Amino acid sequence: MGTSMGKGSQLESDSGCTLAVAIDGPAASGKSVIGREVARRLGIRFLDTGIMYRAVTWASIRKGVDPSRERELTSVAACSEIRLVTVREEDRLLLDGDDITDHLRHREVDMVVSVVSAVSGVRRALVAQQRAIAEDGPIVMCGRDIGTIVLPDACVKVFLTAAVEVRARRRTAEKAGNADYEKIMDELMRRDRIDSEREDSPLRPAKDAITIPTDNMTIEEVVQVILSKVQ
Ligand code: C5P
Repeated sequence: MGTSMGKGSQLESDSGCTLAVAIDGPAASGKSVIGREVARRLGIRFLDTGIMYRAVTWASIRKGVDPSRERELTSVAACSEIRLVTVREEDRLLLDGDDITDHLRHREVDMVVSVVSAVSGVRRALVAQQRAIAEDGPIVMCGRDIGTIVLPDACVKVFLTAAVEVRARRRTAEKAGNADYEKIMDELMRRDRIDSEREDSPLRPAKDAITIPTDNMTIEEVVQVILSKVQ
């Protein structure tokens, strides 16, 4: 798989390491909204690694690969070309040249993405791409294993949490009345369970991560906590 992404500025931290902020946490904990805003304020790049796992999942659904076929899933991950581009200030994901961004949050992807993501071969292919992207310069990266596996030397590591009821409420609100709260909550719990219990790179905070319980915090408050750690 090949991934391309624009280069960021070469900011360095006081300790000399390239600036990288790792943001991990369960589904719908706000990683992507908060990570994007932190990156914007710092003037550096942002990568939501979840969309890469979603892209491989979408590709395997299209190719009719059964989610139990680990070898075939690994081959889909290794052979697909993912490119992340910005079009009219919007992030778009191209898979083998096709813009599939609008499919990545479909229910059929939500249903199997955690199973596909538990396959070690899929993770190997994507983690290599994520590390290559980080080598190009400062970045805020969010996912499940950024602080533990992808960027263990990141200068700042945070782990966002919130009760599942709070996360389900936020996700329901995002869907503007078009969603069933109970169904969303069940789906979040199912994904969290698979992501936390898998053998390879389970969802968990890095030892040196700061855990931020976001239940009663605004986006701005969480952004400020992270920025204060960066500075
Ligand atoms: O972040 P998002 O909910 O879009 O991620 C979708 C799925 O991708 C997660 O439930 C998880 O199974 C997988 N994922 C992962 N490791 C990452 C990012 C996402 O396993 N770094």
